[in-house]
Amino acid sequence: MSADIWTIGRMLEWMQGYLAKRGDESPLVSARWLLSHATGLSNMQLYLDLKRPLSPEELDALRAGVKRRGAGEPLQYITGTASFRHIELSVREGVLIPRPETEILVSEVLSRLPSRRYNVSDADDDAEAIERTVKVVDLCTGTGCVACSLAHENPLIEVVATDVSVACVELARENVGALGLEGAVAVVECDLGQGVSEAWLGAIDAVVSNPPYVPTSVLAEVPAEVRDHEPSLALDGGPDGLDVFRRIVPWAHAALKSGGFLAVELHETTLDEAAAIARAAGFAATKVVRDLAGRSRVLIANKEES
Ligand code: GLN
Repeated sequence: MSADIWTIGRMLEWMQGYLAKRGDESPLVSARWLLSHATGLSNMQLYLDLKRPLSPEELDALRAGVKRRGAGEPLQYITGTASFRHIELSVREGVLIPRPETEILVSEVLSRLPSRRYNVSDADDDAEAIERTVKVVDLCTGTGCVACSLAHENPLIEVVATDVSVACVELARENVGALGLEGAVAVVECDLGQGVSEAWLGAIDAVVSNPPYVPTSVLAEVPAEVRDHEPSLALDGGPDGLDVFRRIVPWAHAALKSGGFLAVELHETTLDEAAAIARAAGFAATKVVRDLAGRSRVLIANKEES
């Protein structure tokens, strides 16, 4: 009889084999991730409960999920969630899945802005009374991962996040709401900085962006999982990867306050050229920051103090 019962352990083994045959490079990770999602159990709980039978609903969810994963769909689209720094975000097809390298963009921005972290000794109403006085604009926000992390991790930061894609704007607003950041992050549907209010122009502390930056020729070589499922609007940076960056730079230079800075994630082959573009547009100093794999990844460009 037990051969007919689908337990967590039996399912884990079967899914791992199925996904390996379909070319999944990390079949065990995928299987565990899908099982966690279907059962609501943590990784650790799954292993402690390998003999637990799966319910018909759990089996249905797993069959559908493993089929999609076997066809090469990213796990985050299947589960509908992605972790980014200290937050969980909803994700879905049509919007770029947050990447680990973008977490570095956020650290670089946070480390350059005045900060105040919530303190356990703060009375609750004190914490709420903190005014958000640091102005940040996040261009091409996608899921809203950068904007939400900045506001979540530093209660002084207020963000205007923009995206030209309606799907992104809708999802970013959902994420802002789910994280309780309505008072801190406003999401605007517009091309780059066009929809940022006049009152902010010249008063912005930081402009941050993870724009589409993959050179078109490189796009053909990205993994099928990315190419076939993620939006090319979020990836394609034109012939040299800097098409969108070139449009961001003059706007950012005009919109930043003196002493403010621009921080942009870019393709590893383009940072020197990007730095030259920023200096030619009037930025005083530039710095290139590497990602965890040691590749040039983030450009910081400072506007001179007046
Ligand atoms: N890092 C992403 C990738 O290589 C690209 C993100 C982007 O173009 N903004 O898939």
